Amino acid sequence: MRNVVLLGPPGAGKGTVASRLVREFGFLHVSTGDMLREEVARGTPLGQLAQGYMARGELVPDEVILSLVRQRVDAQKGVLFDGFPRTVAQAEGLERFTSVDVVVFLEVERDEVVRRLSSRRVCGTCGAVYNLVTQPPREPGKCDRCGGALIQREDDKPEVVARRFEVYMRDSAPLVAYYERRGILRRVRADLPPEDVFRAVAEALR
Ligand code: ADP
Ligand code: AMP
Repeated sequence: MRNVVLLGPPGAGKGTVASRLVREFGFLHVSTGDMLREEVARGTPLGQLAQGYMARGELVPDEVILSLVRQRVDAQKGVLFDGFPRTVAQAEGLERFTSVDVVVFLEVERDEVVRRLSSRRVCGTCGAVYNLVTQPPREPGKCDRCGGALIQREDDKPEVVARRFEVYMRDSAPLVAYYERRGILRRVRADLPPEDVFRAVAEALR
């Protein structure tokens, strides 16, 4: 199986499409955001280091991210990278320990991602992702999967969202051209309903 990168601004729907791809195709899901939130929740030294950056909407330093990913990936094939790489330095670092076969770029405009993030809720227990408007839970405030309480991520508050978007434009958007030059970029419209986005991504991976 091939290694895939999901690229796109915060709120593009990377996590949402990733969980479906994992379910249907059995990728190893590597979400650096989820891994960092786990480290923060466990209060590890890495979590303590990452916490401030995350709360401000800044990127955690490349060396920290690369060593975290490297431990998880090893020589595995069939990895779905979600929210990583986020800088050209991370992309170069990744190439030193594994290959990237396809990069799917989820294209969606700023206004739409800002809207999505303001109504995103996540399960505090299992991390499942919901949206009050587009993907509400069956019972308000309660996770369909595990019954856990739904919360709003601190970094989904408007001031931090604005910063995350700026950081994305400055540090991560250049990855589109980077992977385009390598001939492995596939563009997918992500301003459509989740089912359509999933289908288009699955098609791009064929
Ligand atoms: P990312 O991982 O790229 O930050 P998420 O997958 O967490 O994005 O999605 C951001 C928010 O938008 C969540 O609230 C999610 O439920 C919602 N969402 C995801 N995909 C779509 C879609 N195709 N249409 C509408 N809302 C979506
Ligand atoms: P995400 O869950 O992908 O939205 O990531 C949440 C936050 O974790 C980001 O705003 C960053 O602070 C941090 N983060 C996640 N992935 C990375 C990465 N690849 N490089 C640097 N910081 C990251």
